[in-house]
Amino acid sequence: ATPMATMVGSTLSAKNGVLYKGADVLEKARGIDTVVFDKTGTLTHGDMRLTDVVPVDEAVETDGGEPSGARRSSSDPGSDGGAPAADGGVLEEADEPTPDEDLLLSVAASAESGSEHPLAQAIVAGAEERGVDLENPTEFENVPGHGIRATVPEGEVLVGNRKLMADNGVDPAPVEATMERLEREGKTAMLVALDGELLGVVATADTVRDSAKETVAELQDRGYDVMMLTGDNERTGRAIGDQLGMDPDDVHAEVLPEDKADEIDAIQADGSRAIMVGDGVNDAPALTTAHVGVAIGSGTDVAIESADITLMRDDPADVLKAMRVANATISKVR
Ligand code: ADP
Ligand code: MG
Repeated sequence: ATPMATMVGSTLSAKNGVLYKGADVLEKARGIDTVVFDKTGTLTHGDMRLTDVVPVDEAVETDGGEPSGARRSSSDPGSDGGAPAADGGVLEEADEPTPDEDLLLSVAASAESGSEHPLAQAIVAGAEERGVDLENPTEFENVPGHGIRATVPEGEVLVGNRKLMADNGVDPAPVEATMERLEREGKTAMLVALDGELLGVVATADTVRDSAKETVAELQDRGYDVMMLTGDNERTGRAIGDQLGMDPDDVHAEVLPEDKADEIDAIQADGSRAIMVGDGVNDAPALTTAHVGVAIGSGTDVAIESADITLMRDDPADVLKAMRVANATISKVR
């Protein structure tokens, strides 16, 4: 682009809350055929809330999970013909937890109080709202892309996905049906274990940004390939993708933080040129690898530093605006 073209583009874009970095950004944004969105914090608001606390016994009762060994006896008080928990353990208005829920939530939240991850913050905030007592962990370890391990007064706690449990010899079979139910609802479901024994499941939900659906639709209408990249579970990713009108095959889930850039390389391997839109530390390498990197304005500093374009209003629809500006600017010069 000529300096004039850049100036025109920048002037228009400043009004629209879209900031460009560098003189060649508008030029680069012209040849795009693929738009890849991070899920959490980009297509969604990223303000996760704790929605479900399901102890293992309740999971087996409510969702028919596979009981593990002698866990249930025929005199189980939960199967005396009384009405089952109609809400499936969903804590809508921060109900007071039952003793099982209290233990599950207290160890999970105490362990997570060592983490800065948005999922961790949602679990801690949810526990506090429900009046659950928390302790600081004496030991804490992040397992990126999988969860955490921490030592709290009750013992050694694991909170995370199936892979974390598998790597630590914990069998999630009793709560598998519960996990799948929650994931089909688009929630992030996490397993909790104490001293190698499964305690249950906690789940968080996030909300899709208002303009995300229409943005995906308009990009698709204009012939762009639209994809989602997420570290979250496949079923959760597809449920959110479905809400946004995306094809299941265009949802790339369970991508480890260090693999996001490789995923962009793979997408661009056939000569495609991708815009990657993201907000997180995890997204930074992918923003650099993509033909054009776009950061959400409220995202992390490292994402903004790695990006060519920043959307100051956190609005995915501004991706369309940025591309329109790029195309208009170029054609004006030609
Ligand atoms: P995202 O791309 O959504 O930021 P991450 O790569 O950070 O995802 O995490 C992927 C998955 O690992 C999460 O969906 C969750 O199952 C698990 N996980 C990561 N961090 C935590 C944590 N602090 N507590 C529980 N689970 C976690
Ligand atoms: Mg994100």
